[in-house]
Amino acid sequence: MSQIERSSRRLTEIDAAVARLDDGTYGRCLRCGSEISEVRLEAIPATELCITCAGRR
Ligand SMILES: [Zn+2]
Repeated sequence: MSQIERSSRRLTEIDAAVARLDDGTYGRCLRCGSEISEVRLEAIPATELCITCAGRR
């Protein structure tokens, strides 16, 4: 993947995270709906999955 593709993908993920902040679903796993741990959110602020679901992918 090129550098440009990587950064545009990251921007898309951040956009999605901001949209979730707006509708109040930020910090919740998109797959199972459980809360994503603060440690994980600090490490990957734009993450959409909890550690369990991310590990299953
Ligand atoms: Zn999950």
